[in-house]
Amino acid sequence: MLKVKNLTFQYLANETEFCYNFTLEEGEIIAVFGASGAGKSTLLELIAGFLYPKSGKIIFNGKQIENIAPEKRPVSILFQSDNLFDHLSVYNNLALAIENKNNKEIKIKQALQDVGLENFTHKKADELSGGQKQRIALARTLLRNKPILLLDEPFSALDEKTAKNMQKLLIKLIKKHNWHTIMATHNRKDAIAMNAKKYTLKNNILTKI
Ligand code: ADP
Repeated sequence: MLKVKNLTFQYLANETEFCYNFTLEEGEIIAVFGASGAGKSTLLELIAGFLYPKSGKIIFNGKQIENIAPEKRPVSILFQSDNLFDHLSVYNNLALAIENKNNKEIKIKQALQDVGLENFTHKKADELSGGQKQRIALARTLLRNKPILLLDEPFSALDEKTAKNMQKLLIKLIKKHNWHTIMATHNRKDAIAMNAKKYTLKNNILTKI
């Protein structure tokens, strides 16, 4: 279980204070709505550890994680645009994500199968379509195998059909791996398609809808 308790953050001392509270069970998805600038990315960055809170707690399976370094957190992130290294092959992009190098080739093959791109091992990242890149980024998330998944506008760069396929794939993998998933989005349709619990940022406070 992931519990975010009275988590507050301010970029500057005399500016807006954001406040977040929610609980997320394994396999569940939370969708966070809000206009641009509402504080969605700030929440993801606090959970990922790129920002440190002013006060409050992030508790994962009974352990406080809000003050530990990003690379030590049980978190992986899927961004709107995929952040692959364009000049590297799919294989090398994925190899970079693997901490335990034992059976590296088998692990990469399995992850590519899971996202339906098993024949793409030797393609360069810049030879892929937007949707294929996104799936490779998802394969990388699989290889990192962390129990908390952060999705930052994951479908907004994809056409409608590709976005639908990506949603189906994500739902399947979230269920299979029991990931705790937090998705920042401005699109309610995405939240409905993903069967997510819906929250919005109202006056800088995360509020359940
Ligand atoms: P969203 O993801 O909902 O678009 P953000 O969480 O990125 O919103 O930003 C929330 C607010 O914090 C915005 O008003 C934004 O301008 C401000 N902000 C974001 N990053 C910084 C920063 N590094 N320094 C100061 N203010 C920031």
